[in-house]
Amino acid sequence: MFQRLSIAVRTMAFVAAVCLALVALDIWHSWESRTVLLEQMGVATANLSRALAQQADDTIKQADTVLVGVVERIEQEGTGPVQVERLRRVLAAQVAELPQLDALHVYDQDGNWVANSRAAVPQKLNNADREYFVFHRDHPDRGPHIGIPVKSRTNGKLLIPVSRRIDHADGSFAGVALASIDVDFFLKFYDSLDIGKGGAAALILESGTMMVRRPFGPEMVGRDMRGSQLFTSYKENGPVGTAYIKSAQDGVLRLNSFRRLEHYPLFVGAAMSKDEILAGWWKDTFWHSGGVLALSAVVAFVGLGLVRQIEMRTRTEAELLRARDALEALNKTLNTLAMEDGLTGLANRRQFDVTLDTEFGRAMRDASTLALILLDVDRFKQYNDIYGHTAGDECLQKICRTIANVAARRPRDLAARYGGEELAVLLPGTDVEAAALLAERIRAAVRALEIEHAGATDGFVTLSAGVDALRPEAGAAQPKELVRGADKALYVAKSGGRNRVCTNAEPKA
Ligand code: GH3
Ligand code: MG
Ligand code: MG
Repeated sequence: MFQRLSIAVRTMAFVAAVCLALVALDIWHSWESRTVLLEQMGVATANLSRALAQQADDTIKQADTVLVGVVERIEQEGTGPVQVERLRRVLAAQVAELPQLDALHVYDQDGNWVANSRAAVPQKLNNADREYFVFHRDHPDRGPHIGIPVKSRTNGKLLIPVSRRIDHADGSFAGVALASIDVDFFLKFYDSLDIGKGGAAALILESGTMMVRRPFGPEMVGRDMRGSQLFTSYKENGPVGTAYIKSAQDGVLRLNSFRRLEHYPLFVGAAMSKDEILAGWWKDTFWHSGGVLALSAVVAFVGLGLVRQIEMRTRTEAELLRARDALEALNKTLNTLAMEDGLTGLANRRQFDVTLDTEFGRAMRDASTLALILLDVDRFKQYNDIYGHTAGDECLQKICRTIANVAARRPRDLAARYGGEELAVLLPGTDVEAAALLAERIRAAVRALEIEHAGATDGFVTLSAGVDALRPEAGAAQPKELVRGADKALYVAKSGGRNRVCTNAEPKA
């Protein structure tokens, strides 16, 4: 029972293990694909930042190259009216060539407009207050300077100033050559990138000023970024790196790649929204998790059905076994009842007949002797009459117990109730003398019981016995002849005065 029950338990454990394995496998697989996806996106944003840095570098380099030429020209040729007119044409031609340029300007040492790429020079304007002008005036450095973005005084556009200092022959400050790059030029490029709705791109001065950003807002241009996580991360891990950063501008968590420009003190940041990167993955995960859960449910359902069946079969088998045991016990009882005499406990007539036949056949095969003692209680009718039938029954029981004790010592000996108060003892392998001796012992034992019998000759219950034995030969003697012989001897015993043993003296066939 325990073993069978444990099959159900084991099946249940197996089903649970299969379901768990399915779920665990799916979780592992989903996590793996998420990791791979984020790694790929890391590479993609790194490549994107490289492209942005390159684009910014090239854009500024082109403008700066023009400035180098302009500075050289003014320093060599001066700013006489003829030279200025020629210079103006050159500047206009350059601006027409380079789409990123809004304008090219030349200012003298006081910030007054000397020449620009536009047709007319507004004489009243002065740029001495601009950051780039102040920088060049105060720094003898001849290199390019990227200034903080400014709003154009002529057309209101947001511009990134790239400038170089112009020197007099003695090295003193002579003015500034300025190329103003349109913020819009970068913006158009950034807007053309396929980085999703949540993607971001930014160009930032290393000193911390935001130059341009997508998604764009005019208020962002020129903003101080030094407190932002992107800037801190760049400063700590730059010039090239990748980091998850929550935007200071819009609060979106993005995978950011930053990279410094090769030639200028600026860096770019390219970023994709983590939610957007993972949106497709979430969708996939939702569907196959649903599938796996449904599959697990089916497996669990089928498994539980199986367990229920096993349990049912186990119960049925146990019931069948119990029923079989009960039947066997009943059969045994019935068998015993069928072969045993109810009153005396000796074998009944039926068993006697069967055993007589069996032993007769065996004696024939073994060529051995089979003996029979027939016993009959003397004057038993009278006993009943005197003491009552119940007392007669008890008397019969006592006599039978005595016979069972004295006779039937060997396994194949059989004491039986032949009928009424007639009893029989069948003795295989016994000759007539030995049987007569045993009969005498029975007779004496019954007499020794001293059961009072007022109707008997000597006042006690006695019995008479007839003994016969034969050695059966094929085709000759029959079992009934043995009975007849013993019966005859019994008759002789009765007629001889009772309470005695007689043997059949008749010659056997
Ligand atoms: P005898 O054999 O000595 O010639 O005389 P008897 O009185 O025994 O004569 P018989 O054998 O013809 O009588 C058998 C009597 O045994 C008849 C019946 O009342 C009695 N008897 C037989 N079976 C039982 C039994 O199971 N219980 C009782 N109490 N009496 C029985
Ligand atoms: Mg009788
Ligand atoms: Mg009798």
